[in-house]
Amino acid sequence: MNIEVSNIANLPTVHGDFVIQSFKQGVKEHLVIKTKQYDSIPNVRIHSECLTGDAIGSIKCDCQSQLNYALEYINEHSGIVIYLRQEGRDIGLLNKVNAYALQDTGLDTIQANHQLGFASDERTYEVVDYIFEYLKIDEINLLTNNPDKLNKIKVKINQRIPIIVGKTSQNENYLNTKKNEMGHML
Ligand SMILES: [Zn+2]
Repeated sequence: MNIEVSNIANLPTVHGDFVIQSFKQGVKEHLVIKTKQYDSIPNVRIHSECLTGDAIGSIKCDCQSQLNYALEYINEHSGIVIYLRQEGRDIGLLNKVNAYALQDTGLDTIQANHQLGFASDERTYEVVDYIFEYLKIDEINLLTNNPDKLNKIKVKINQRIPIIVGKTSQNENYLNTKKNEMGHML
């Protein structure tokens, strides 16, 4: 795997003072956000990009709440957030908007992906394995509600830390689909 790694820079945020480092894999520029110190078994959140949620504050999904929760969690307890540029479960932004348009006609998130010719989840995690090797980390506490993620990464999971974010009337259908169809623990 051909990966270019940036230098480490300081990044003060509303959630706390972090350091960041970018890992470029082809056209995808991923970001590692870390506290200056962390334990030998660090707390880790692997977050996939959701432009509409993370940046615009969409309440169709719970991505922004999960990201904020993770950043606040590592600020308090130390750790790492790996921000993966896998927009829309890796179907890309344009296809995600098309999937949203299908959802406007009554399909759920998985049915919409299938109608567009994609699997319900196209994400892969090889770059995550690379990042952990690079950072010399072989065991983590993983912040996730997604049991599938536990099986897709090579690093040893010491403990799963649940992410607690609220259900709203706007994201209820989406969260129920994730829980019922994709086995998320919500
Ligand atoms: Zn989202």
